[in-house]
Amino acid sequence: MKLLIRDREILSSALNKGGYRPTPQREHIYLIILNKRDHPTADEIYVRCKKEMQGISLATVYNCLEMFVECGLVKQVNFEREPSRYCPNLMEHAHFHCKNTGKVFDIDLPNEYFNEIKKLLPNSFNTDIVEINFRGICKTEMDETSQLVNE
Ligand SMILES: [Zn+2]
Repeated sequence: MKLLIRDREILSSALNKGGYRPTPQREHIYLIILNKRDHPTADEIYVRCKKEMQGISLATVYNCLEMFVECGLVKQVNFEREPSRYCPNLMEHAHFHCKNTGKVFDIDLPNEYFNEIKKLLPNSFNTDIVEINFRGICKTEMDETSQLVNE
């Protein structure tokens, strides 16, 4: 498994802007996140990374994820009382969290919706991030790799 040239460019330009540089480990972790877009936790990413890069440590994965979030490469997604999950979809979107399976899906929402929601804030409030989460039950027939987002 290797990063596509385009993805490698996205990675290195984002890291460079943040004052970091790409390393084989960072490239590998980014690849793992892009490869299966099921909103894994840091522990899940670590398990997947270890399959192909046995020397990698959990601390490296955590540090790297923090760096990716800081550089705007991945979004950190939080649900109540659960460990953070990571999402490489940088388009504005909502999440659907299934209370039965624990699976998380990307839900496409037009940009206008986010802008409309921002307008609801009182004048003196300013926001950078709007997070919209749906919670309910997903279609059980959907398999793990199903994507609701058109990519
Ligand atoms: Zn997402």
